[in-house]
Amino acid sequence: MSLQASIAVHKRKVRFAFACLAATAALLPAGAMAKEAGTCTPGTALRMSAPESSQGSLLLIEVKSAKPLAEVQGDWGGRSVPFWREVASEANRKALLGVDLEKAPGEYELKVTGQTASGEKISCSASVTVRQGRFATEKLQVGKQFVEPSPEQIKRADEEGQKLRDIFDRVTPERLWDGKFRIPVDGVTTGSNFGRRRILNGNPRSPHSGADLLATTGTPVHATQRGRVVLAEELFFAGNTVVVDHGLGIYTLYGHLSEISVKVGDDLEAGAVLGKVGATGRVTGPHLHWGLTVERARVNPLQLVRLLGNSSGTSPRQKSSKHRIN
Ligand SMILES: [Zn+2]
Repeated sequence: MSLQASIAVHKRKVRFAFACLAATAALLPAGAMAKEAGTCTPGTALRMSAPESSQGSLLLIEVKSAKPLAEVQGDWGGRSVPFWREVASEANRKALLGVDLEKAPGEYELKVTGQTASGEKISCSASVTVRQGRFATEKLQVGKQFVEPSPEQIKRADEEGQKLRDIFDRVTPERLWDGKFRIPVDGVTTGSNFGRRRILNGNPRSPHSGADLLATTGTPVHATQRGRVVLAEELFFAGNTVVVDHGLGIYTLYGHLSEISVKVGDDLEAGAVLGKVGATGRVTGPHLHWGLTVERARVNPLQLVRLLGNSSGTSPRQKSSKHRIN
């Protein structure tokens, strides 16, 4: 969503970023849980989907107990980590740890505490390493009119940025999703440009916080999972935008839409059509800007599909969804 000025080298960079993402994907087996991590009270184990993380990535955490659990909560560097329970797994809880794409590299302590159904306290702690993300950087010289929006445009963009941050700050305590997450455009299996840093005329811009999915104008855009529409309007940078709250601090954003077909307050089923691909806002051509925020951390949305979903977008469950909104 950073300033999408008119740029001739765009296509070449897209291909470069695509290659980087493809390499990352190969290193991350879908949904696999690494060995036990950290130290826990006896009878409890902590597992993470990867032994360490990097800027803009997502970790799946699992707490397993020998006894049924009543409650589990987490704290990672002063940020709460909400856990959820899957059906028929009383002794097991899961959580997503989002690593913001600008989080300072280093070691961060993860603390998990809770209680079994019989009232015994459990706890785990682990040190989670955050490594520097490997993102493409573009240095560009462009006409001033593309770099510097007018004072009114800056004011508008700032207000909209604040509005989005206020939305992402609110954590809906229930899990609204149920099932697998999918890539929001049929037939698209990957995206590009996540985390890309752009330096325009020597001035660094904020990093690109979503994945760009290439598709033609008018292609239906599907909700990645169940959730509630919390924003559906035209924004300065992202154009026609929809934000879906999936609960537990997880939000997905869909930008540059040619049409929005939902409104704030709508409850969407997994795979419901929420709009169509377009080129509204500051863009050079039609694509879907897909963003993911987990507990305020801006992370690569494709990792959500890798950890908790299927990449084809055509699972039988989603096909049978009855309450599509068109
Ligand atoms: Zn984008």
